[in-house]
Amino acid sequence: MKIRTIHCAVMGALACAAAWPAFAQAPAEVSLTRFDCSSSAGPADIGRFSDTMAQEGKKLQLTASCYLIRHADHYLLWDTGYPAAAAGAPPGDRTVKVTLVEQLAQLKIKPEQINYVGISHYHGDHTGQAASFPQATLLIGQGDWDVLKGPTPSGTTNAAPLKHWLDGAGKAEPVAKDKDVFGDGTVVMLDMPGHTPGHQALQLRLSQAGAVLLSGDLYHSREARRLRRVPKVNVDRAATLASMDRFEAIAPRSHARVVIQHDPRDVALLPHFPAYLH
Ligand SMILES: [Zn+2]
Ligand SMILES: [Zn+2]
Repeated sequence: MKIRTIHCAVMGALACAAAWPAFAQAPAEVSLTRFDCSSSAGPADIGRFSDTMAQEGKKLQLTASCYLIRHADHYLLWDTGYPAAAAGAPPGDRTVKVTLVEQLAQLKIKPEQINYVGISHYHGDHTGQAASFPQATLLIGQGDWDVLKGPTPSGTTNAAPLKHWLDGAGKAEPVAKDKDVFGDGTVVMLDMPGHTPGHQALQLRLSQAGAVLLSGDLYHSREARRLRRVPKVNVDRAATLASMDRFEAIAPRSHARVVIQHDPRDVALLPHFPAYLH
């Protein structure tokens, strides 16, 4: 261990990682691919993303983003965007033009190769295409799962794409707190309730690019993060603010690159599909 410590100090973290296999199992290769999961047709009214009416009349182009995380030979989809347009129908503002299945095919990945579908929360712009991956294990916050399973899911939920798991036909793992998905600390769901009862963010430790935090809907824009704006569509204001505190403590500690999933300025900084970050 002493040799490793000296080696790390002299050679830097990357060389340290390269030196590590002599002492323990090599870390898994972890990469992040972003898909095109549709955007608002033009600048959208973002007044609804501040419950103190701080953004009335303001507009911002919003994106719906979804991701593929590869961990060695396993795959996790993180959020599944809007649904695909019905067969024969022209794609609308809230449907995708190229489906996740079609984009995966470009990477030569079949739907049945997806091991996990992770959902940050139950809103329809995050659950839309989950049903395309029935063999996958569904990872979703326990609080959201309980609402979806309850007698009166709220009007903001979109349970239909998750019916397969809710009916017991698919394997689901409701996540009560944090979840280290692959057991090695590289892909960790972070319990960030408030926007919905079981809302989750995702922390990645990529092989070379380092830590990345995918925000879910903890924030909807960079401004919302800077000014701690709580959206009007929100279940528990105090919980959201506490989650923001936790997120902002974790981000600098891990030197994480933060990706606000609805903000195209953040999403555009990631490599363009099919390129990926690793
Ligand atoms: Zn949401
Ligand atoms: Zn959203």
